Amino acid sequence: VQSKLSNLKENSHNTVNALLDDIALKLAAKVDAKIASGETIGLLEGIPFGIKDVYMLQGTCTTASSDLLKHYKSPYTATAIQKLLDAGAIPLVKENCDSFGHGSSSENTIFGPVKNAINPELVGGGSSGGSAVNVAKDYTVFSIGGDTGGSIRQPAGYNHVYGLKPTYGRISRYGLMAYASSTDCVGPIAKSIEDILIVLNTMSGLDPKDQTTFTSETIQEDAILDTKSIKTVGYFKNFIDSEALDPKIKADFLACIEKIKAKGISVKVLDFFESDTLVSTYYTLAMAETASNLSRLDGTNYGNRIEAENLKETYAVTRSENFSEETKRRIVGGNQVLSQGFSDEIYLKGLNLRDQISQNFEKDFSEVDIILSPVTPSTPPKIGDSLKAPLAMYLSDAYTVGFSLGQLPTLTVPQGTATGLQITAAKNNDELVLKFANFLK
Ligand code: GLN
Repeated sequence: VQSKLSNLKENSHNTVNALLDDIALKLAAKVDAKIASGETIGLLEGIPFGIKDVYMLQGTCTTASSDLLKHYKSPYTATAIQKLLDAGAIPLVKENCDSFGHGSSSENTIFGPVKNAINPELVGGGSSGGSAVNVAKDYTVFSIGGDTGGSIRQPAGYNHVYGLKPTYGRISRYGLMAYASSTDCVGPIAKSIEDILIVLNTMSGLDPKDQTTFTSETIQEDAILDTKSIKTVGYFKNFIDSEALDPKIKADFLACIEKIKAKGISVKVLDFFESDTLVSTYYTLAMAETASNLSRLDGTNYGNRIEAENLKETYAVTRSENFSEETKRRIVGGNQVLSQGFSDEIYLKGLNLRDQISQNFEKDFSEVDIILSPVTPSTPPKIGDSLKAPLAMYLSDAYTVGFSLGQLPTLTVPQGTATGLQITAAKNNDELVLKFANFLK
């Protein structure tokens, strides 16, 4: 399998990793033996899946698609991945992504730009681009992405597959390389709601190794087929009236709203924060957290160390040579907003805005069951364009980052020819999100 994957033209996989082959073959042999002995096998047994290359899988390299960790071997396995292995799923490939999750196009990687599954001249989306492309192309049955500000939902939308960011804390982050810890979420990308549900249920649950996790009940398939409880949906007026919104995406979205009304659901138009406020709040906090999280990557304990004259120089050269331009931009930005003289004005203001955004959501969800929005304001850019225009890339996250700041469950479903529909519910109401996706089918 690895030799085939290494020839894929989409750049959706990372370094050919013979160790991963060994793991996969051993696990597959176990399933074969079970089948041969006539035992019934579980839903995930023998099912091949992909892993965004930011999750630890013991014995394999976890590179975060970066030069800095190009040869880094995972010393342990992430909780979410371990649960999938325990259920018999077979890890096939570590997937290409923007390094450390920094980006929206999967071009900020040492393994070549990830190409869109539908049109290879366009980006695969990011940061979990390899994961979405692998699912869209049937190279994997499902993939595990990571979503801090849209990195599961946006590439799922760009490649016309399903991608779920569960409620923050529903799935353990232990063993996920931290980008911005307060919004980092583990989630599945797949081709059906049922597959999303099975993988979500398998990975969810309290983990003593991640204190932000909580106990959650298994969501029953019957429960998400019973869609009677959905009465009201809302959407944000300013998202849909925005000049930045592509006319085709807008038309698809409004057609969907009409379809929902025709099914007897009442639709409310809601007020929300301006996109610029959402994007700047998210990037202020995400950069601050990533500057802090990545400070340990200085070549001492982790990373490709580049020796220089003294220790300080060694840190500087190791980090300057091995981090990408985008990652350095974020570390510098993050340290600036955290520094004396700036933190009150910028960082604390960001925290305050996040509280206001969460309160706004609480109010909204006292009035509606579901909030709908397009996943992105624009269609996937051509390969090469995002790297030239980082600010435009940040703005393309306008519709996903708000829900991340609110720590809400939110799902991309493929819709028309556009970049997908985003279905969001109140915190811990992941079941309702999946229910609504079924209702739309
Ligand atoms: N594009 C966003 C960013 O670069 C989101 C990335 C993510 O969710 N990992 O921060």
